Amino acid sequence: MNKNDTAIVTITDMNQDGEGIGKLDGYTLFIKDTVIGDVAEVKVIKAKKTYGYARLMRLVTPSEKRVEPLCPVARQCGGCQLQAYDYKEQLLFKENKVRNNLERIGKLSDYELLPIIGMEEPWHYRNKAQFPVGRDREGNIIAGFYAGRTHSIIENEDCMLGVKENRQILRIVKSFMQEYKIEPYNEESHSGLVRHVLIRKGYHTGEIMVCLVINGGKLPHGDVLAERLSKLPGMKSITLSRNEEKTNVILGKELKKLWGEAVIEDRIGDVTFEISPLSFFQVNPVQTEKLYGKALEYAGLTGNETVWDLYCGIGTISLFLARKAKKVYGVEIVPAAIENAKRNAQRNGILNTEFFVGKAEEVFPAWYEKHKERADVIVVDPPRKGCDETLLRTMVQMQPDRIVYVSCDSATLARDLGILSQNGYHTERVQPVDMVPQTVSVECVALLKRV
Ligand code: SAH
Repeated sequence: MNKNDTAIVTITDMNQDGEGIGKLDGYTLFIKDTVIGDVAEVKVIKAKKTYGYARLMRLVTPSEKRVEPLCPVARQCGGCQLQAYDYKEQLLFKENKVRNNLERIGKLSDYELLPIIGMEEPWHYRNKAQFPVGRDREGNIIAGFYAGRTHSIIENEDCMLGVKENRQILRIVKSFMQEYKIEPYNEESHSGLVRHVLIRKGYHTGEIMVCLVINGGKLPHGDVLAERLSKLPGMKSITLSRNEEKTNVILGKELKKLWGEAVIEDRIGDVTFEISPLSFFQVNPVQTEKLYGKALEYAGLTGNETVWDLYCGIGTISLFLARKAKKVYGVEIVPAAIENAKRNAQRNGILNTEFFVGKAEEVFPAWYEKHKERADVIVVDPPRKGCDETLLRTMVQMQPDRIVYVSCDSATLARDLGILSQNGYHTERVQPVDMVPQTVSVECVALLKRV
């Protein structure tokens, strides 16, 4: 095939990014926006020797597994790769993705893959959204999302994954900017003021936080904006984050209170957390409780155990487990998150935790070197790149009875489970959880036992 060729293909499979796969005489085409079962007319946009990428031009026969996306800009936005795929099929897709990775990368065979835990209502589940602000071609101020892999903003104030309050908050911010002639940030010229609007809502508490990320130290007439936003039910915290860097990182390091508190509160199970705009907090509260519930079950605590929670963030898992353990140690690289973790422990009256700031792969081996104390259970919840090998080695040396591995990337999970299985840890079961419906992402919690 060559660039600009057109063809009619049947989609027979999907890759891990959710692109449809069709074959034509042994030549493989990857086609975004198609799903298994579609017959589609496509145009090649990039051709390699044995495979290429094509664009969907027309659906000749739509798949029975296809549904009408709820979001009018689902295709342009690219945030929801699977919105046109029936939810039941999305869940199967994720289960298969996990199974493939575990078996191909991790070479696991003798383990149990449990059916994925999906959502009853797979919409409006996100407790946090970060909207970039800019201007459209006509010069109107808009807020929305970056179109897949670009930095052009697709206007969308009413994301189907977010809370309903987002829209009203964005409207207030935009009309305020228009009225007081406050410029949205322009990435190319590095000029203008307002870069992003971050909104977070406590699922159980209903408390709302708005944080404006600005390219400067001050928001002119900020008091007027604060006054308008503060009237919304649930509003608890309005802050400014100063970010004058030319960077893709959204938030700056400095935070200034404009109105109310600097943090909001939410609960996971019966533990209350204080959440700052800067801290990581799971975005799907309904599924988080199910995920942590599984982690707790797999940890098998009776009250006598010493537990390590590596990559602990603001201590969510640590505190969730602490009530049932003798002692929980947490390690996390972000100092502010550890401050949150300590305060969260205090405010919940949890006294059997200890938190360390630093790289897990440095702090944990150093501690073990010094104390030579073993752990009964180790929980890890690393970022996408998975665990460092030094860390895996120390984990094995500590000889815990159980390892509970929480993962947001099944490929690195598989790699690490493979390594652990060669070092005396058998993967008993893996439980996938759908934390981010409509997207290709899948979370897992795995239980390993010492053989
Ligand atoms: N367990 C927490 C956080 C999980 S996200 C929760 O469920 O909320 C992964 C965390 O790992 C992030 O907080 C990130 O800051 C932290 N992190 C990333 N690299 C790290 C490293 N090398 N050592 C320790 N923590 C790290």
